[in-house]
Amino acid sequence: MMEKTATLVGPLSRRPRPWRAKVIRDASSAGAILMDCAQRALDLALVTSALVLLSPLMAVRGLLARITAGRVFDRESVVGMDRVPFERLRFAGDYAGRWLGGLINIARGELSWDGPRALDEEEASNVPPYAWVRFNVRPGLVSSHKLRKRLGLCNEAELEHDSEFFYTQTLRGTLGVMARALPNALLGGRSTGVAQPHLNICGVEIVNTTMNEALDFIIERAGDRIATQICFANPDCLNIAYKNRAYAQILSDADRVLPDGIGIHLACRLKGVEMVENVNGTDLFPRLCERLERTGLSLYLLGARPGLAERAATAMRDRFPNLKISGCRQGYFTADEEPQVIDEINRSNADILLVGTGAPSQDIWIARHRAELTPAVCIGVGGLFDFYSGRIPRAPQWIRELGLEWGWRLAMEPRRMWQRYLIGNPKFLYRVWREVRGSASK
Ligand code: UDP
Repeated sequence: MMEKTATLVGPLSRRPRPWRAKVIRDASSAGAILMDCAQRALDLALVTSALVLLSPLMAVRGLLARITAGRVFDRESVVGMDRVPFERLRFAGDYAGRWLGGLINIARGELSWDGPRALDEEEASNVPPYAWVRFNVRPGLVSSHKLRKRLGLCNEAELEHDSEFFYTQTLRGTLGVMARALPNALLGGRSTGVAQPHLNICGVEIVNTTMNEALDFIIERAGDRIATQICFANPDCLNIAYKNRAYAQILSDADRVLPDGIGIHLACRLKGVEMVENVNGTDLFPRLCERLERTGLSLYLLGARPGLAERAATAMRDRFPNLKISGCRQGYFTADEEPQVIDEINRSNADILLVGTGAPSQDIWIARHRAELTPAVCIGVGGLFDFYSGRIPRAPQWIRELGLEWGWRLAMEPRRMWQRYLIGNPKFLYRVWREVRGSASK
């Protein structure tokens, strides 16, 4: 059990906080109690201000509930911290502001502002032992798993996420979740519909799947040595495909096109379909390395400026010591050098090739040379090595959760990115909107 818990500290997508895990796990009740007191003090300070500010609204909402539903609150029996049951309150009636009732639970110390979802008795009894740490914290009025899921940003199962929350929760984190909750609700909104297996956006068929399923697919194809091409599609790719028919054809011929980023999520919202997860290359890479380490399959990294693929490889080997990276090469080469590049890749005997020379050239290159390349799976990964080599810092988690990673990239490389984001993103959304209107008027 301890081993499983230990692996949960420092999730792949977040900055690990091993010191905190250590305090809580080894030390000590004293450390944990101290942190809990600080958390509770913050909850109380915030809920007092919220109750003062929102009390007129709550009074009106309570009155409306009483008049229309005959009762002020709906009460749900749930399991809280230390598995103590309590009644979760929501204002009755199907109007806005039901959640305001939860402020009373926070004031009573039954809920925190953010935390794992409050489970009902049956769900709680089915939580496996490795995830019991989720009961060491108060459930949240806002669940950070739900928040991230809404934006298609969460790649961990809820239980994993919740257990990890116990080790990574901080006061700053609580404030961050609260600041994010509103824009996130606007961006992510409610579930828009039923998830379909494919998303058709601007004529490109994108697989609507989870990160784990996409990884299973890659590993299976690589293990079975089935020649496979995988592409990622973000708004910029779809804008290019709109004009470049050859690239559009490559996306349609690829074995899989995966949804990359908030732009695709917004397009899905416009179309009234649900995107299951944001399966972008940057989040997929470390998870892929983790799987490869387990399976013994090997990787070749091609792309970016000289030395960056090697630096990304070193970063991954530091995290996954048994990972086999059988070769790296920079991504600036001439057509005359191509046979030598292909020969080098093939001689490395890699099972999977990642090509990070930017879309659409990487995907066109893979398609053109697919038959000559011996790695079973070839994936176009864009500027991935720039991030993992540390050349460009990736947007912090909170910026990603606000759906603003594109803004971060724009700030990092304004001259290269302004057209892509400031002109390309609105253009893309306008095209999707026209597509929706067109199909609605048919
Ligand atoms: N690049 C390359 N060879 C080239 C042109 C570009 O290896 O001939 C690299 C470049 O250094 C960068 C990546 O391709 O690492 C492109 O990054 P970008 O962010 O534009 O790609 P995206 O993820 O948006 O497709």
